[in-house]
Amino acid sequence: MRKQDKKIAIIGGGISGLSASWFLKKKGYTNVTLFEKNNRVGGQAETFYYDESSYELGAFLGLSTQRETLSIMNELGIDDNKTMIEWLFYDTKGNQIFQLFDGQTQAFLNEYQHYKKIYIDYPEIEEFGFFNIPLTFEKPFYQWFGLNNYDNMGKVLSQYMALFGVSNLQKIPVFYILQVLNYKTLRDLLKIEITPVLTWGGGLNVFTSKLSFQVPHLKLSSPVTEVKRNFDGIYIKTPYETDRFDEVIITTNLKDSLEFLDADDEEFNLFNLIQTKSMASYLFRVKATTIKSGIIRENLFPNRNGHVFAWWKQNPKTTNSFQIICVYAMDISSMSQKEKVDIVISDLAMIGFTEIDFFTYRHWDVLPHVVTEDILDNFYNRLYSLQGNHGTYYSGEILSGITIEKGIQFSKWLIEKYF
Ligand SMILES: Cc1cc2nc3c(=O)[nH]c(=O)nc-3n(C[C@H](O)[C@H](O)[C@H](O)COP(=O)(O)OP(=O)(O)OC[C@H]3O[C@@H](n4cnc5c(N)ncnc54)[C@H](O)[C@@H]3O)c2cc1C
Repeated sequence: MRKQDKKIAIIGGGISGLSASWFLKKKGYTNVTLFEKNNRVGGQAETFYYDESSYELGAFLGLSTQRETLSIMNELGIDDNKTMIEWLFYDTKGNQIFQLFDGQTQAFLNEYQHYKKIYIDYPEIEEFGFFNIPLTFEKPFYQWFGLNNYDNMGKVLSQYMALFGVSNLQKIPVFYILQVLNYKTLRDLLKIEITPVLTWGGGLNVFTSKLSFQVPHLKLSSPVTEVKRNFDGIYIKTPYETDRFDEVIITTNLKDSLEFLDADDEEFNLFNLIQTKSMASYLFRVKATTIKSGIIRENLFPNRNGHVFAWWKQNPKTTNSFQIICVYAMDISSMSQKEKVDIVISDLAMIGFTEIDFFTYRHWDVLPHVVTEDILDNFYNRLYSLQGNHGTYYSGEILSGITIEKGIQFSKWLIEKYF
């Protein structure tokens, strides 16, 4: 059999799964089935449509470094919108605080030059994946920044990490942060106070659905409940059918995959180490106002879970009497949705929003990561060496890093190397 005739299953219809299918197609594979448990593709990229406009609940921005994303958008005929989002920083009482370019100090700029040099000395940390993490970056964020006397940089970076829902910087190894906020991304964000970002015309949903039209066999509302890897093939079960495949690519959260995968000891041990953070995004309709998009870094700390840590206006130029804002908070599983929404509404009122109407809420398990001691125990080398065992391959955030671009880059690398 030609390798292109192999029957391939992809589990998960987020960016990683969709792009794995895209690159398989480019290599001539036609017998590809993608299983997605929801009735839509996109995963953490989810667009909400209201009054002929699109609003993002999950991923929303890209930067100039996103070459693979732009290249696929170009092939699919999707324009890149350039939107200006002005982010200001606030304290927990709703007062505006430290502004990057108001408070810009020589000390910060000196630190920035050092920061830039890290990427010259260690170019690998800018890349997708975590193939050869220099051991100096295994330490937790605050410890590493403290040791290197990057006080101002630490402050700035931890503010921007809020945009990615990254909290608990006491525990998370610094390389996860260095990878997302590499100096080019930071340079783009800092260029001027008003940040130009790439957004997707008509919503990210246009991008993910156009990608999904390219999938040879797309199975929506098809949660995979069992994967059995036998000597004669891989059997994949959903509530509707069991089908046989030659190879499988798993792109879901690997810890969750233990619920359906006949994991061997190494898979079981490694996947169980993966931790995530609980995050919520909300959409509200508010009376049109001049309040800018904002970040409250303190609300990322565990004792402030449930409180608003970022909000942003998705259609800042609207002339309507109302605006839609997207709001982020760390999520609290023990609370009812009403209790969560009430906390957020009182925070929004304190910031100055009025006529606040709740639209929708989503829970996300974000930033899959492992801690420093697991890195020292060779987590990533062991994880990557699983590729291909039992006809099974893996893509997704724990392997690639946590942006759309990294997901696409990793899936491209996987398909080019192994298929
Ligand atoms: C609030 C938020 C804001 C973000 N902002 C940005 C941003 O601005 N820019 C950026 O680049 N990135 C951003 N990200 C990160 C980005 O969205 C993710 O890195 C990326 O979408 C991950 O794609 P993925 O395919 O690896 O995973 P996911 O999107 O998580 O896809 C996994 C898919 O697997 C499916 N699945 C799970 N279990 C099963 C099963 N048993 N059977 C079948 N299917 C299953 C899920 O339904 C899901 O569709 C953000 C994320 C969030 C949550």
